[in-house]
Amino acid sequence: MGRNFFVGGNWKMNGSLAQVKSLVAQLNNTVIPSGTEVVISPPAIYIDRVRQELKPEIGVAAQNSYTKASGAFTGEISPEQLKDLGIDWVILGHSERREYFNESDEFVGEKTAHALAAGVSVIACIGEKLEERETDKTTEVVTRQLKGIADKINDWTNVVVAYEPVWAIGTGKVATPDQAQEVHATLRKWLADNVSESVAESTRIIYGGSVNGSNAAELAKKEDIDGFLVGGACLKPEFSNIIAARL
Ligand code: PEP
Repeated sequence: MGRNFFVGGNWKMNGSLAQVKSLVAQLNNTVIPSGTEVVISPPAIYIDRVRQELKPEIGVAAQNSYTKASGAFTGEISPEQLKDLGIDWVILGHSERREYFNESDEFVGEKTAHALAAGVSVIACIGEKLEERETDKTTEVVTRQLKGIADKINDWTNVVVAYEPVWAIGTGKVATPDQAQEVHATLRKWLADNVSESVAESTRIIYGGSVNGSNAAELAKKEDIDGFLVGGACLKPEFSNIIAARL
């Protein structure tokens, strides 16, 4: 199929200088299997330090970026500034940003378009809440969120789609491999029907939600699961097992 395995680690608003030092040392000692791409996402305040100290074969992502290159937008960070620091990735549309900062599908699409135009690759997050799954709205929700991105971009080369069911994030309640595969296949079909066959075939769709060192290998066997976005477990030594999950 030819899609490289992708493992992202989202530190969220966690870490201290001491932790940055030990996590970077741990990552620098981790063997990255060939055909696997690893990108970690520290809080913005540590991002420059992490980029400077981390081995170059591991990518670094911001956890957010804005729709403008510069200007009077207090507290925001532009993709152009990320590029300036050698940061090649950004996570956009994470459910915590959608939920706590009211980010709409349209805004996530706009931010994705601006990041791509500035040369920053995007991990674009989508996923349904528990009540949406329980009322059979999963497909409706995730395809609506994906459309919010598709409406604003033409080139998917530098996009990784992260399917992260909200009920599985930080809850210890992981989707079963079959549950995740079903949604990933739906998303790939949506891309085939609404963007193109080649975009559907080449775009990596990764799973996020309570992935850990014990459940990653089973999930990684599914044909449409091209990797993971990891929260809690990326701050622990078991992250190296997740990186090796497709071996
Ligand atoms: C996340 O926040 O993207 C995530 C998947 O978190 P966790 O692995 O802790 O569920």
